[in-house]
Amino acid sequence: MKCHNHPKKEAIGTCVSCGKAICEDCATEIKGKLYCKTCIAEKLKTTEKN
Ligand SMILES: [Zn+2]
Ligand SMILES: [Zn+2]
Repeated sequence: MKCHNHPKKEAIGTCVSCGKAICEDCATEIKGKLYCKTCIAEKLKTTEKN
């Protein structure tokens, strides 16, 4: 399985939010769960609004 953003990099897991395969560069771990950068950005936006 390769990273959704980096076709040449091996993914370390999938984003729990969108399900895309992500490599260590793209993944951010929050409370033991992996999120991609896109979903982190979305999450931050949502948090700001609330
Ligand atoms: Zn995601
Ligand atoms: Zn990547």
